[in-house]
Amino acid sequence: MKKALITGITGQDGSFLAELLIKKGYRVFGLARKDSWNRQNNASHLSGQIDILFGNMSEEVEIASAVQDAKPDEIYNLASQSRPGESWARATETLEVNGLGAVRLFEAVRHHCPESRVYHASSSEMFGQTNCVPQNEQTPFNPVNPYAAAKVYAHQMAKIYRDSYGLYIATGILFNHESERRPLHFLTQKIAYGAACAALGILDSPDLNEMGRPIVQHGKLALGNLEIARDWGYAGDFVQTMWATLQQEQPDNFVIGTGKLHSLRDLCETAYHCVDKDWQENVVNDPALVRPLESGQMLADPSKAREQLGWEPTVSFDELVKKMVMAQMLRLKKRGD
Ligand code: NAP
Repeated sequence: MKKALITGITGQDGSFLAELLIKKGYRVFGLARKDSWNRQNNASHLSGQIDILFGNMSEEVEIASAVQDAKPDEIYNLASQSRPGESWARATETLEVNGLGAVRLFEAVRHHCPESRVYHASSSEMFGQTNCVPQNEQTPFNPVNPYAAAKVYAHQMAKIYRDSYGLYIATGILFNHESERRPLHFLTQKIAYGAACAALGILDSPDLNEMGRPIVQHGKLALGNLEIARDWGYAGDFVQTMWATLQQEQPDNFVIGTGKLHSLRDLCETAYHCVDKDWQENVVNDPALVRPLESGQMLADPSKAREQLGWEPTVSFDELVKKMVMAQMLRLKKRGD
């Protein structure tokens, strides 16, 4: 039986990937922070089907122990402080987890399990303010936030460890991917939540935003720059490519995205349309929510993944948004019961 270790198992991708690997017959180990595992999380329903190893990406010894205990054939490094917008306020933590955490893992593999195949989750945010549209594996990086800078560091170190030590370390340069499991502090989920509130006639939402105010206040959802455009896919599709990447003979980098661009305005329109509401009556602009520096137009050219991994998204943008809105409606209804 093949063994896999997933860091970030309590997160969106970690939980989808664990489900996939269990289905494929793997024994799955998950690295999680104790507090996170002990509360309800995305992988709680897998309790009993996976082995949890407690550890923090900031702790070298804990990562090394996890690698030694699991002795995995495959390692998926998905742990991260994954909110670019928050990375200015948490710059050193972001580098600790997203940058140095990855290197701690590569070191653990080098010393304790050099035959393991490692997948590292890189990000389209690394392209930052770019004039090259769409972006592929050769597009130069120009990060514009601490999250992206830390991801560039880890991405370069993956190549350095691969070339210098002959380790199998592959990366996925992942464009935005969402799901019903995305935490509420992500913009896409806030929009799904806003649409669900509108559908249910909730004027002041029970869930609060980062400023401690209802996400929907007096019937309005406040958003920053609506012209931002991104390439949004479904997380359940993306984890398939993580597994496929590690089945390649040679470790490599793959851009993963849908190759389709949508603006936040499109997202709002689609989400509110799902519940027969006009987004313009429910969304207001708040300049305080605009990021200091926004990344440029992020659009994937996933030709290489299409050719070599057989990458093909199965969930369209409209279906993705609908899934998220419906999940938020269900959640809000349950809370109201
Ligand atoms: P997510 O839902 O935010 O999950 C992040 C995971 O990392 C959580 O399990 C979190 O655990 C864990 N983590 C954070 N700090 C940690 C620490 N110090 N020690 C141990 N674990 C820690 O992120 P995701 O959407 O699944 O993304 C997976 C990976 O893909 C991440 O590396 C992300 O940067 C990358 N990525 C994602 C996207 C996207 O659109 N989703 C796009 C590009 C790249 P807790 O539960 O303890 O917080």
